[in-house]
Amino acid sequence: MKAMVYRGPYKVRVEEKPDPRIEHPNDAIVRVELAAICGSDLHLYHGMIPDTRIGHTFGHEFIGRVEAVGSSVQTLKPGDRVMVPFNIFCGTCFFCARGLYSNCHNVNANATALGGIYGYSHTAGGFDGGQAEMVRVPFADVGPTIIPEWLSDDDALMLTDAFATGYFGAQLGDISEGDTVVVFGAGPVGLAAARSSWLMGAGRVIVIDHLDYRLAKAREFAFAETHNFAHHDDVVVLLKKLTGHLGADVAIDAVGAEADGNLTQHITSAKLKLQGGSPIALNWAIDGVRKGGNISVMGAYGPLFSAVKFGDALNKGLTLRMNQAPVKRQWPRLFEHIRAGLISPGDMITHRIPLDAIAEGYHMFSSKLDDCIKPVIVPGA
Ligand code: NAD
Ligand code: ZN
Ligand code: ZN
Repeated sequence: MKAMVYRGPYKVRVEEKPDPRIEHPNDAIVRVELAAICGSDLHLYHGMIPDTRIGHTFGHEFIGRVEAVGSSVQTLKPGDRVMVPFNIFCGTCFFCARGLYSNCHNVNANATALGGIYGYSHTAGGFDGGQAEMVRVPFADVGPTIIPEWLSDDDALMLTDAFATGYFGAQLGDISEGDTVVVFGAGPVGLAAARSSWLMGAGRVIVIDHLDYRLAKAREFAFAETHNFAHHDDVVVLLKKLTGHLGADVAIDAVGAEADGNLTQHITSAKLKLQGGSPIALNWAIDGVRKGGNISVMGAYGPLFSAVKFGDALNKGLTLRMNQAPVKRQWPRLFEHIRAGLISPGDMITHRIPLDAIAEGYHMFSSKLDDCIKPVIVPGA
């Protein structure tokens, strides 16, 4: 089969690989119909996630058709169309029993924190991902769900990670009625977090980014008030000014480790404080929320970025909650919101790319070219 393959930082291409096989009785093989590229894939692409091996296939956001099932699989049969959560989890261990699917103890022998994630390096179990014609899906009775006939493919795809993660980010923010929520990052996760904040009772939603085309999307898709940080010397001062000097009630970090050289230049040219290379959005969040405020971190941080102001956060009595989102937990409620016409996650998709053009897709998404919000690979195209 054809699959996206990692060849080193900033180098991905399409290669022939052996078709995936059933390796365990509860495996399924899924023929991929749509696979998105995620901001998280950019951390791999930028070489920032440890133990990302040459030859690995990325892709943790995908939907497709079941091609084959192992002998113990009961809930799926060949021909079923499934949405697959980005986490690989057993469903029965200590952590899964508590809903902590992203911390499953049974899928990743190396795990000290993370369970399994498709296509997310050997740190997350070494499972090949879905940016390919086919993918092996372990614990097939546990993760995948048959796509309901009323759900569009694009919406289903966005629930395998990006939208469900944004929603989870808003949940972890523990938003109270009328709260002012500031969301850092207007990528798919930030847009979804902003949109979801309203569903949880926010009274005001502010989105910060430096890309005007994404801020426009935040106004259109998430009805947010937006600010371009490149136009402000000090984002924290701006936030204080916007919130009667108290700070926001809730901040959601939908940025994470930022390895974009252009952005660093951009920040320097705007005379923004770089804070010694520490995570910028997270520190803006810590400084920009009020005392006793909540911070929800969805942005992913590799080991290069560990100089976080946790001391300040502690002294301010902040609540920091974080996790890789156990997205399947969000689905029943998200299904209801979609059916009620309150959300339309698939609207975030801006590009559809054949698998053969994966290198161009990564370059475009990483460099934020062509007003790209969410690119999707179509292996069958
Ligand atoms: P993305 O790259 O499309 O979006 C990130 C956005 O942040 C960009 O628009 C960028 O311009 C903006 N940005 C950069 N620095 C900023 C700053 N200092 N302040 C405000 N905005 C800034 O990525 P995405 O797909 O939306 O994902 C966002 C983050 O969430 C990534 O770090 C990704 O790894 C992480 N993620 C985590 C989970 C999880 O389960 N926790 C799941 C999916 C994605
Ligand atoms: Zn993702
Ligand atoms: Zn488990």
